[in-house]
Amino acid sequence: MRTLWSKLKDDFQLSMITLVGLLAIVGITPYAVYRLGEGSWLVGATDTFLVVSSLLAVLYAWRSGDTIRPGQFLALIYSVGAFLVAAKLGVNGLFWMYVLILFNFFVVPPLQSLVATMSTLIAICAYGWLHPEQVFASRYQMASFVVTCLLCGLFAFVFAFRGRVQRRQLSRLATLDPLTGVGNRRTMDSELDIAIADSRRYDLNFGLLVLDLDHFKQVNDQFGHAAGDQVLVRFVAAVRDVCRPSDRLFRLGGEEFVLLVPKADDASLQTIARHIQQRVREQLRRPDGAPVTVSIGGSLLMGRQNRDNWLKVADENMYEAKRAGRDQTVIRSY
Ligand code: GH3
Ligand code: MG
Ligand code: MG
Repeated sequence: MRTLWSKLKDDFQLSMITLVGLLAIVGITPYAVYRLGEGSWLVGATDTFLVVSSLLAVLYAWRSGDTIRPGQFLALIYSVGAFLVAAKLGVNGLFWMYVLILFNFFVVPPLQSLVATMSTLIAICAYGWLHPEQVFASRYQMASFVVTCLLCGLFAFVFAFRGRVQRRQLSRLATLDPLTGVGNRRTMDSELDIAIADSRRYDLNFGLLVLDLDHFKQVNDQFGHAAGDQVLVRFVAAVRDVCRPSDRLFRLGGEEFVLLVPKADDASLQTIARHIQQRVREQLRRPDGAPVTVSIGGSLLMGRQNRDNWLKVADENMYEAKRAGRDQTVIRSY
């Protein structure tokens, strides 16, 4: 129950699909029963189809973790449903269009939602135009319907678009280091946990390197904090230049970074560390021209090690590299 709740809290799209799906099931089922009871077979069957499809889409989203396709599926069937209900019930069915506009903007991205909503609006109006007095009592009523739907859609679009941008910004703030743009400690914790789970499930080898800039305090003390920040940014660029796209770099804090390396062994960790040290030594300069160096400690993920223990071994190796004179690498795994 707790994991269900935390999944709903963490995944906005999943919570929206679940809410919309459940509301559709609870809200449309009485109509389906009523329409079938009074012999309106087409509308009754449409309602039943909407209820069953909503249920299946919600179940699929929960089982697969994929919220894109169920969202698109729901937007499609609700749009078709809104058209059929409007075409069959006329003015009485038109009011569902407003609910559809909100539904769509919650279950699919704003642009897709705009396309689905506009297509339904055009389809209803075209049908109403071709069948006078079947959907709209007058052209004036149709014009009012179009204007109110467009306004409703515009507000929903602006709201959904802003919400999406803000959610992205929040997620970036929560997961990335603002100075260097690499993952922060929180991201590192969760990616190390995923690596540990993957190594147990698929028998994969992971290694990690702890990288700590040497005498970095001197850079700050002699040239100021801004110069220190520049060195950190250029350090990240240098490390990214030499590692593979699958290697993941995080800022542990201050001038300490962690590189997570998939498919690693002792030799490959040594090679990556040597390349990083070489590149940093050649490319990174303090404002007075002196080279910047980095000490590196590494360890492979062993047996049933947990995250803290794995990190601790690499960190201790990094301190040993410092004691050995800095600009050194120590890789050992326990
Ligand atoms: P060592 O070779 O033993 O690692 O020495 P060090 O000077 O690199 O290590 P120390 O831990 O003594 O100092 C780290 C310095 O990093 C202290 C702090 O001022 C600086 N620092 C931490 N975070 C930032 C940051 O975001 N920007 C800048 N410019 N400096 C930072
Ligand atoms: Mg340091
Ligand atoms: Mg340090």
